[in-house]
Amino acid sequence: MIKTWELDLNFRNEILNEPGGAHLSACFQCSTCTIGCPIAEIVPSYNPRKIIQMSLLGMREEVLSNPDLWICAICQTCTARCPQDVRISDLLAAIRRIAEKDAEAGKLKIDSVRPLFEKAFLHQLEKYGRLFDMGLAMEFYKGKEGGSFIKGQLAMMKDFKDFGMRMFKKGKMGPKAMFPEKVKKTEEIKKIFEKVEGK
Ligand code: SF4
Ligand code: SF4
Repeated sequence: MIKTWELDLNFRNEILNEPGGAHLSACFQCSTCTIGCPIAEIVPSYNPRKIIQMSLLGMREEVLSNPDLWICAICQTCTARCPQDVRISDLLAAIRRIAEKDAEAGKLKIDSVRPLFEKAFLHQLEKYGRLFDMGLAMEFYKGKEGGSFIKGQLAMMKDFKDFGMRMFKKGKMGPKAMFPEKVKKTEEIKKIFEKVEGK
C-alpha cells in the first residue's frame, strides 16, 4: 500500500540531478526492460520497471533500502531495447549513488557488499592502471570482514578453495592475476581519478 503522506516528491528531482539520472521522466512503464533482463529471469523479485515507477512516485525510502537495487549486472540489454531511450543501468547507478550518500551520512544501511567491491575495483585501477585481481580480492575481503586483514584473508581462502580453483581450471584466472602489473600510463589514470573526484 502506498502511504501518500510518506512520499518524497523531491526524490524525482534528486535522481534527475545525478549523473545518469536524466532520462527518468521519459519512462512510460512498458516493462520491456524487465521482460528481457537476465537478472529478472533468475531473481523473481527483481523488477527495474518497478524501481523506476516507485522512484517516479517518490517512494524514496522503499527504493533506497531495496536490496535489488544492487544486483543489476550492467549488461545494457534493457537500455538497448527501451523505446524511450531510458538508460536504465545508468539510472540505477544514479539511485545507488544517492543511497551511498545516505549511507555515508548514517541515514541508511546498505544491504549489499557491492559498494565495497566497486570501491576496491576502482582503487586497484587507480593504483595500477589496470585490474589486479588478487589485490581486488584482498581489499574486498578485508572490507567485508570489517577491516581486519587476517579475517579477510581467511574468508578469502575459504571461498577460493571452491570458486577460485574452478576459475583457475577454466583459465579465467592465471598467474597474472597473482601479481600486480603497472601499465605505463598510470599517472594519466591517476589524473582522471583526481578530475572525477574533484581533487
Ligand atoms: S523499457 Fe524503458 S519505457 Fe519501458 S518500462 Fe523500461 S525504462 Fe520504462
Ligand atoms: S542492465 Fe541491469 S537491469 Fe538492464 S537488463 Fe542488464 S541486468 Fe537487467
